[in-house]
Amino acid sequence: MTKLVNLPESPIEGANLIAGEWQKPSGERIDVISPWSGESIGSVPQSTQADVDAVVAGAKAAFAEWRRVPLRERTQILYRFRELLLEHLEELAHLDSAECGKTVAEARAGVLKGVEIVEFAASLQNMDDGATMEVSRGVTCETRREPLGVVVGITPFNFPAMVPMWMYPIAVTVGNAFILKPSEKVPFTANRMGQLMLDAGFPPGVFSVIHGGKETVEALCDHPDVEAVGFVGSTPIAKSVYARATSHGKRALCLGGAKNHFIVLPDADPDVTVDGVVRSFTGCAGQRCMAASLMVAVGDVDPLIEKIVEHTRGVRLGVDMGAIIEKRAHERLVADVAQGEREGAKLALDGRDTTAPEGFEGGYWLAPSILDQVTFDMECANRELFGPVLSIVHVKDIDEALALQSRSPYGNAYSVFTTRGATARYVAENSEAAMIGVNIGVPVPREPFSFGGSKQSKFGSHDMTGWGGVDFWTWTKKITTKWSLQPDATWMS
Ligand code: NAD
Repeated sequence: MTKLVNLPESPIEGANLIAGEWQKPSGERIDVISPWSGESIGSVPQSTQADVDAVVAGAKAAFAEWRRVPLRERTQILYRFRELLLEHLEELAHLDSAECGKTVAEARAGVLKGVEIVEFAASLQNMDDGATMEVSRGVTCETRREPLGVVVGITPFNFPAMVPMWMYPIAVTVGNAFILKPSEKVPFTANRMGQLMLDAGFPPGVFSVIHGGKETVEALCDHPDVEAVGFVGSTPIAKSVYARATSHGKRALCLGGAKNHFIVLPDADPDVTVDGVVRSFTGCAGQRCMAASLMVAVGDVDPLIEKIVEHTRGVRLGVDMGAIIEKRAHERLVADVAQGEREGAKLALDGRDTTAPEGFEGGYWLAPSILDQVTFDMECANRELFGPVLSIVHVKDIDEALALQSRSPYGNAYSVFTTRGATARYVAENSEAAMIGVNIGVPVPREPFSFGGSKQSKFGSHDMTGWGGVDFWTWTKKITTKWSLQPDATWMS
């Protein structure tokens, strides 16, 4: 049997990447536990104000040179980084899986989605030619994109490779010096990518990694030489990071949590629906901001629900679905299922009493659960549980379904499963969520389309990735030029 995941053979002594050097401060360290085994796989520094000052100073020095490197030259280095990512794909997928608990296949897909963003960033040299126009006789106006300077990305545990890559390939390609503060629960993939960025030829300080938690994030948000903050994580932290960074006049884009609804209609294609729903709520063990976690059953879809329950029973732990990030989250999810039942939901599938994959008995394993007959006043219908738990509410028509979504504070994804085009269009046009899926369980926009939610799933303007990312990580300069006196001069010339 092939191994489900390669856990590191010896503990990893993680360091910060500052000005192109790996530095290990002597202070407190953060233990990193693999969800697969429940055991420590290494540690990283709990960085202090002095470490933050050093990483920002290194990035600032690098920016002074990097901003002058032509886009085409920067892109050549990015090509080499892409090659290295593909060369090290399996190693990265296993490391990502080992630290965040998802399956190796899911981790591999995350790295490849990151590669897609690298490819988008590499294409900017051909697509983003700015704009020049003769605005009056003999007078031209030109727009130039300028990098912001030292910028920061703060990322969550659930996509150790992909979410950081939503940000830095675009940010560095357009000329910024980027500092990554990865989740302290999954810091090693970030470090590996940091080494690959150095190996590709990015100059020291153009890409840096600093580890830590709340204090490190706050020091980065407060630092006067940091120009912009990109954040992805839970809603309360997204909101506070946004408030803190913008209070200092910085640009910020902070993506938060979600509670994604999806409507299932009686005319939905059974194969497409069952596959889409089960993959969406069990993929990454439901620890995904795009996971469909609230099914809104319109009319009689009980035959489809039975199929969803049956299909979910077949999900194999460690092969189709990974582990829960930490013991505390595992305990919370077990309690959430019990609470749903207590509040009156019918437990159509109970994943609490499960068997761990062989050899990983110490890990945080939880099979998928399905709560049916949920009402919208129950906790499981409203709170982001962030685990493999599907709640099902029943409504009479589409407008009632849409009204539920409009009561939700979140607005990330919204999907509809139907074979009727007019119904799908109606839902897409009337949903308040920002990323809509028609017969798609995880409606993540692919490049060059941008990723970003609405309501309390996003704080700030712009989007991550695609053109939204290019806009977020740059400012525009407008240059108006005249080389000779014009005979028909007006106030405009
Ligand atoms: P989290 O909010 O706990 O942590 C995110 C980052 O913030 C980490 O780097 C962490 O170190 C830092 N942090 C934690 N507490 C902090 C504090 N008090 N002050 C400042 N910084 C702090 O999120 P998580 O548990 O790692 O990730 C799961 C959450 O992320 C879920 O809510 C999920 O929906 C969300 N998420 C959203 C998206 C999206 O695109 N909208 C994508 C992935 C994950």
